[in-house]
Amino acid sequence: MLCQAARIKALDSLTAFGGRSELVKPHLPASLKRFIEMVPKAELHVHVEGALEPELMLALAARNGLPPPYPSVEAARAAYHFADLQSFLDLYYAGCGVLRAEKDFYDLAMAYFRRAAADRVVHAEVFFDPQTHLGNGLGWEVFMPGLARAAEDAAAQLGLSAAYIVCFRKEMSAASANDTLSGALPWLGRGHVIGVGLDSSELGNPPAKFADVFDRAARLGLQRVAHAGEEGPPEYVWEALRVLHVRRVDHGVHSLEDGALMAALNASRTPLTVCPLSNLKLKVYEGQLEARLTQLVGSGLVVTVNSDDAAYFGGYAVANYGYLAAAAGLGVAQVARLAANSFEASFFLGPGSGGEARRAALLQQVAALAARAVEEEEEEAEERRRRRRRQ
Ligand SMILES: [Zn+2]
Repeated sequence: MLCQAARIKALDSLTAFGGRSELVKPHLPASLKRFIEMVPKAELHVHVEGALEPELMLALAARNGLPPPYPSVEAARAAYHFADLQSFLDLYYAGCGVLRAEKDFYDLAMAYFRRAAADRVVHAEVFFDPQTHLGNGLGWEVFMPGLARAAEDAAAQLGLSAAYIVCFRKEMSAASANDTLSGALPWLGRGHVIGVGLDSSELGNPPAKFADVFDRAARLGLQRVAHAGEEGPPEYVWEALRVLHVRRVDHGVHSLEDGALMAALNASRTPLTVCPLSNLKLKVYEGQLEARLTQLVGSGLVVTVNSDDAAYFGGYAVANYGYLAAAAGLGVAQVARLAANSFEASFFLGPGSGGEARRAALLQQVAALAARAVEEEEEEAEERRRRRRRQ
């Protein structure tokens, strides 16, 4: 808990980083851009429903004989301007209405996996919202086989390993979350559903409401994460840690306002799954986002970079790394650290996961690519100096 005076002081200390507009981006050096494209990454905060691009949304509506949610792809994209988290969620849940059959879920997940693999995502831990689909009259036997088959095909065809995390919607009841966990039971132990999370509307929905269902998930051996500190205060992050015992905090950017919380996250090496373009589009820390992200990356916390709801927020992994690198003025070494963090924070590649050998091999790839990018970076700097001398 942070007293008001301490919070104001913490906020004041951040303004020293401010001043740059989020709309004016410095040009990324070609070497850094290539490195961001090539470096292997794990994605740990992505909602499969948020990868529903307008083209697929309209195609699925037509396939299922439903009225199109938008008259055209352009109209859909034009509607994607959000005032805050809730204004996004309203459109997001409406978009989910086109998902009706097993094949729809397969096509949706495969579209994400193909796009992620193109951005050199080699491993993904993917959220989905069963309550949304159950509310649309679908059963687990409809969406889960499609999602599971896509994860298997992503591994076989794309070399991208993937698993799913069931998210409970925070504005819904604890009883509904508990029923949802019961529905997931047949899918546990098959390697597809590995954990539970909390997503959706944050303000007014503190995490402690879900203490019992998270306890039950722990007894089932499931991993636990939660969206906290996206729009909500640091107290919600404390609750997620102390009451839900989460292993990762999703978003968590508002942790910056509480020095004791930052210290606790650092000491426990609890990762934050940060989603820069999501924060930008949902106006989190509006006008100060670049300053906050800069401070977060420089804090020493296990910060990871993720795309959240890529179809709605304007970019997948590479776009998020690129935006953050430009916003926070990062070089190759810092981006390499973020990629390494994504493996450390993964439930499949992190310490004690059994995936250490694969992580070591991935870290070697990161180091080799970084060494080459640093050489290119130096050549580019030398070329700029030569050009200046000639002028
Ligand atoms: Zn999210």
